Amino acid sequence: MMRKHSKEYLQHLTPYQGYEILREGNKRFIQNLRNDHDHLELINQTREGQYPFAVILSCMDSRTSVELIFDQGLGELFSIRIAGNIVNNDILASIEYAIKYVGSKVLMVLGHTECGAIKSAKEGVADGHITDLLKRIQPSITKSLLDDKDYLFRDKVAYANVENSLEEILSRSKIVKEMFEKGEIGILGGVYNIDNGQVDFFKNLTRKGRGEKRLASA
Ligand SMILES: [Zn+2]
Repeated sequence: MMRKHSKEYLQHLTPYQGYEILREGNKRFIQNLRNDHDHLELINQTREGQYPFAVILSCMDSRTSVELIFDQGLGELFSIRIAGNIVNNDILASIEYAIKYVGSKVLMVLGHTECGAIKSAKEGVADGHITDLLKRIQPSITKSLLDDKDYLFRDKVAYANVENSLEEILSRSKIVKEMFEKGEIGILGGVYNIDNGQVDFFKNLTRKGRGEKRLASA
């Protein structure tokens, strides 16, 4: 078995396998079956370099730490966190660095239910720097409002907001778009449910290669 924290491991991992690792990790998390993350051992294994298989843009919400909810250890995820998982140029740069220069195979945008940023945007909160950040969530609120059947309005904005961030990333980053079109990276959109710990992988643009084997329970 190839050493996990190595360049070779990352080079051989496919985007679809990256998605499976996240999906299986979240299953372990909600079943309370987390892997044993020996932190000292992981410090040892990663001191020469980092080879995270995924880059995840998620909210700063304290209940949504990606290493926890996907049951991953040190050196396995690039975690970009900002209120409302919105996109700006520095975030695009961080994503581009992860996929092009480190070799992460999966790009995920993860929103969550009961998001305080979305709630504040809906209430039109304006204060300090918060005003400008919340403006970036407005298009998702407008989009959700246009739909009549919105009995799940609160969650709907969370979903629309993830879609909006993904669209922004794809339309603003040439690097992401090209690598995605070549099949070098997979793209995922998810919403984490703070009631039960489950991630709804509602958008999966990760193609499975022909004849690709399932990852033996990673
Ligand atoms: Zn949030």
